[in-house]
Amino acid sequence: MTHGVDQSKAWFERATAATPGGVNSPVRAFNSVGGTPRFMVRGEGPYLWDVDGNRYVDLVSSWGPMILGHAHPEVVRAATQAASSGLSFGTPTTGEVELAEEIIARVAPVQQVRLVNSGTEATMSAIRLARGFTGRSKIIKFAGCYHGHVDALLAQAGSGVATFGLPTSPGVTGAQAADTIVVPYNDIDAARKSFADNPGEIAAVITEAAAGNMGAVAPVAGFNAGLLELAHENGALLIMDEVLTGFRVSRAGWYGLDEVPGDLYTFGKVMSGGLPAAAFGGRADVMAKLAPGGPVYQAGTLSGNPVAVATGLATLRAAGDSVYRALDANSQRLGALFTDALAAKGVAHHIAYVGNLVTVFFTEKPVLNYEDARNADTWRFPAFFHALLDRGVYGPPSPFEAWFVNAAMDDAAFEVIEAALPAAAEAAAEARQ
Ligand SMILES: *Cc1c(COP(=O)(O)O)cnc(C)c1O
Repeated sequence: MTHGVDQSKAWFERATAATPGGVNSPVRAFNSVGGTPRFMVRGEGPYLWDVDGNRYVDLVSSWGPMILGHAHPEVVRAATQAASSGLSFGTPTTGEVELAEEIIARVAPVQQVRLVNSGTEATMSAIRLARGFTGRSKIIKFAGCYHGHVDALLAQAGSGVATFGLPTSPGVTGAQAADTIVVPYNDIDAARKSFADNPGEIAAVITEAAAGNMGAVAPVAGFNAGLLELAHENGALLIMDEVLTGFRVSRAGWYGLDEVPGDLYTFGKVMSGGLPAAAFGGRADVMAKLAPGGPVYQAGTLSGNPVAVATGLATLRAAGDSVYRALDANSQRLGALFTDALAAKGVAHHIAYVGNLVTVFFTEKPVLNYEDARNADTWRFPAFFHALLDRGVYGPPSPFEAWFVNAAMDDAAFEVIEAALPAAAEAAAEARQ
């Protein structure tokens, strides 16, 4: 059991006075699981330590970026070397070129890349570019897919928007929402109907290449290929959002697993190594429309920041085949431990995988879309989450998120998880609606 959380409690009080809700990204506030968010002070390998001195096996991995584990020596060396050479120049740098080349080498449909600072910026820019390229306004997105907090993309979004049960967000204008058509995930007929209902008006379909923000929900066979065909038949672009899956579920992200080529891609998380860096890219003829060569404006004071770029590049360079083998093995091992513990307590559940992303859905029915995810016994989740947390296992504080393994997890880390799970399964079994 942990040592208590007095320091985190005190810091959360200070945080709540200084910052809305005490956090800089809503899910961190623990609203959907209750209790005190832990203030982390250190990470090393598979572990995090909080301000009270508790150690946790980290199954969030900064929501994806830390695939190598925390404070990986090569990555830290690259970051500190870059920092000691100057933090930002506002000029082109050689590292930016190398990072763009690394992304292009990994993801075949990506011919050119522009670096930005967050996944939100990447999807916002990709949508602007798709609209500029096609001269059309409307976008199709899928319920439960999260593409950052871009105004037009908050409708029925996953991740924190799902956690807080928001249909969309106040502050998004009717005009912005009206240009977004939301259809159920994995429903190709609904997408086809949206194209038929809006002839000549759809600029792009944006989808998570495999959904990870309503929990892990893989595309059904033929879904991504069907979207590509539909988009192209109708003169629209397919934007594959791989901010979550990119460079995590394989060297080439989800593209490496299903090989359906998007016209545009968005990346973030892993490619940043944990610093603020993200990217969008794709077909050279589409990317050519971007300023300064083309008319679609997009810019950033800190875009391609040398420290962020060096950190991301070091992460990708260290993420070779053995890392992806470890991630896959660790996610299967985690999923098997979940099943053993939950089955032993008779808790109805289903372990879903998107490559090496794992989600525990408290239902035996297959989860194919956002509605299925919401219809699971999500009320079991807070008890499950807190029983693990109290025993030193830090999972995502929401039932609508994936659990993120990293390659630094070893037998000792798995022993902590295995020891914690019986009590967590018991707590899930005893939870009441
Ligand atoms: C995390 C995420 C984003 C947003 O990235 P930020 O860096 O948080 O702005 C966009 N798309 C997907 C699929 C994501 O998982």
